[in-house]
Amino acid sequence: GSTIGIIGGGQLGRMLAMAAARLGYRTVILEPQADCPASQVANSQIVAAYDDSAALAELARASAVVTYEFENVPVSAAEFLARSVPVFPPARALEVSQDRVVEKSFLNGIGIPTADFRAIDSDEDLGAALDAFGGAGVLKTRRMGYDGKGQRLFRNAAPDGANGSYTAMGSVPLILEAFVSFDREISVIAARGRDGALSAYDPAENVHSSGILHSSTVPATISPQTARSATEAAFAILEALDYVGVIGVEFFVLPNGSLLVNEIAPRVHNSGHWTEAACANSQFEQHIRAIAGLPLGSAARHSDCVMENLIGDEVERAESLLAEPEVVLHLYGKAEARPGRKMGHFTRLMR
Ligand code: ATP
Ligand code: MG
Ligand code: MG
Repeated sequence: GSTIGIIGGGQLGRMLAMAAARLGYRTVILEPQADCPASQVANSQIVAAYDDSAALAELARASAVVTYEFENVPVSAAEFLARSVPVFPPARALEVSQDRVVEKSFLNGIGIPTADFRAIDSDEDLGAALDAFGGAGVLKTRRMGYDGKGQRLFRNAAPDGANGSYTAMGSVPLILEAFVSFDREISVIAARGRDGALSAYDPAENVHSSGILHSSTVPATISPQTARSATEAAFAILEALDYVGVIGVEFFVLPNGSLLVNEIAPRVHNSGHWTEAACANSQFEQHIRAIAGLPLGSAARHSDCVMENLIGDEVERAESLLAEPEVVLHLYGKAEARPGRKMGHFTRLMR
């Protein structure tokens, strides 16, 4: 069989390697940390930085196709690889999702609404933007943020209330987003095959706690029209990017049922982990099918369910969860349960 290259060796890389193995593929991961979650299941690992050109050349030689588990793969690395091996999702998807201003401009450009936003490059910019947004907004780094890191919330900032925040956040490019008073948050995990075929799982309803995903519940409490518009938006994004693979699209649902896209993730997504327990074909298998040029599998769901993350010492719940017959447990093999660290997740089937 052939070999699939995966950039990034965290839990998502690990679960992709497991799905690839089930379909008969070998995997090689590129990951600087030797003792990473994916190292326990991949066939081999290149221990090097994601932008190491010798390592990238080795990855290209070893792989029939290359994919990645996180959106901060350097675009230059993806473009370098793409000269000698197919890379999916395409580098353009990285470019768009790595910068929150580029991402929102792209979405608005294809007719998909987002929160109102302003690029912030100085404390003066921030004061003016907060003024325009009535003193409320979420200030975020444009790049590299995840799990709510690099964010600051303003609720009723006086005109000078944000003084110094640009500097305090490291004088890096920022974005101010208007604060969205959403009813709920949902996400759609969708896929596009190499032949252009489209598929989407049912939207999940997501609850975050301290900026980190806490739970995903399926079905979401939304109308059929809202579910349909979310899926249509995800498909429009896939087509606009000439995408191949699985994508995660996060939405805010407004009180009137209409949607704003919060962000997109060009990879398998934490809010799609429930698919391994409640669907015959998980998001991980779907991604491998898509990038390998196999037919997409069914996204049908056989059970209602709730997925919960096990963060930090919550992993101690594993033993009691194992005693529950309707619970599917998944641990990532991480030795140290540091606070805020995703250690595993479980899905409780509701039937
Ligand atoms: P991840 O990539 O891990 O999902 P992130 O660091 O990219 O997280 P966001 O998804 O931008 O962060 O924000 C995290 C959470 O903060 C959102 O899911 C939502 O609950 C809240 N949030 C973010 N932006 C806004 C906004 N403009 N208005 C209201 N709430 C927001
Ligand atoms: Mg994000
Ligand atoms: Mg998010």
